Amino acid sequence: MESQDLINIAQEYGSPVYVYDANTIASQYERLVSAFAKAKSLRIHYAVKALSNISVLKLFKQLGAGLDTVSLQEVQLGLAAGVDPKMIIYTPNGVSLAEIEKVAAMGVQINIDNLSILEQFGSKHPKTPVCVRINPHVMAGGNANISVGHIDSKFGISIHQIPHLLRIVENTKMNVNGIHMHTGSDILDIGVFLYATEILFETAAKFKDLEFIDFGSGFKVPYKEGDVSTDIEDLGEQLSERFNQFCKDYGRDITLAFEPGKFLVSEAGYFLAQVNVVKQTTSTVFAGIDSGFNHLIRPMLYGSYHGIKNISNPTGRNRFYSVVGYICETDTFANNRQISEITEGDILAFSNAGAYCYSMASNYNSRYRPAEVLWYNGEAHLIRERETMDDILKNQILLDFKDVAVPA
Ligand SMILES: *Cc1c(COP(=O)(O)O)cnc(C)c1O
Repeated sequence: MESQDLINIAQEYGSPVYVYDANTIASQYERLVSAFAKAKSLRIHYAVKALSNISVLKLFKQLGAGLDTVSLQEVQLGLAAGVDPKMIIYTPNGVSLAEIEKVAAMGVQINIDNLSILEQFGSKHPKTPVCVRINPHVMAGGNANISVGHIDSKFGISIHQIPHLLRIVENTKMNVNGIHMHTGSDILDIGVFLYATEILFETAAKFKDLEFIDFGSGFKVPYKEGDVSTDIEDLGEQLSERFNQFCKDYGRDITLAFEPGKFLVSEAGYFLAQVNVVKQTTSTVFAGIDSGFNHLIRPMLYGSYHGIKNISNPTGRNRFYSVVGYICETDTFANNRQISEITEGDILAFSNAGAYCYSMASNYNSRYRPAEVLWYNGEAHLIRERETMDDILKNQILLDFKDVAVPA
């Protein structure tokens, strides 16, 4: 996909618009699969919450992946995309027993992350296979907001509660067929991650009927030059070997599972927005675009960095800009960023816009959520229409106030 293709897409489908390159998604998937080639049985569940368009889910199905879901609705999206329920794992946190029962009844693999629900579910449905989410209390990354395996995290069943977990399994005679962990969003150090996997292996050995061990995700991709990214090939090599050894000790072959989101789709995505106004102030030059944190909230929510290119003027002189949105709140995408000289009307392309971008978009300021386009076989395909005023008004109820006493 060339810059000119992106410009053509913005012209054809309007701005702002998200564009995803199916080739990049496929090659990241292939890269992951080949990294773990030595594992006898491998299953990749794509984490739907990163980018949940049903055409993207179908693409993953075609590639041979399963899905990792965190809500009943994500499960339903997977089914709508034609994914076999057996290829879906459901890893929620803090949801009701009723929702878990609903999903289990669809034939989806459920994953329970607290002892209270585990005991209730096991008592009522001892025959339904259940995976348990363990919290190994390992800080995989540095940022407490995105590291979910540490001691203060709400996720998973603490490794210190394993005796209680085993007692529940024994009392209810329930069927635990999987062990799972998801330590957070950043694997910067493979050594730390492998340390967490040892805790998981030790736990897994205590369960007799396992079919798989799911090591979650946290694969880091570069967002800017010089960023650390997870050395997938090295991790794959080391973990596959260790996993095969575990299977030998365990007495039979089980499946090694992962559930990456960001790694598979982040770099495939571009967010295109048009510059409405170039505003020179006493201290900076603002480039105000036809978007805001209603469409891309990661920079404001997490301080995330997204590369920004002026694809309308790729070879201009670099100048410093603050790129801001049109929301009536501070919504700064980038501060003092060097970008090729911007003229009003230019199209800016944000990179790494595949993961947690559209899926976190909202209607704040009563703006429409953008269109989504999938680029494959050298062509653009619309996979979601831009919203319209009907979407904004849908579900709203206009009262007539006939019977309501309005104070004079
Ligand atoms: C969000 C999530 C993932 C995906 O994480 P990435 O950092 O996008 O790879 C995987 N598993 C679970 C349980 C998650 O909640």
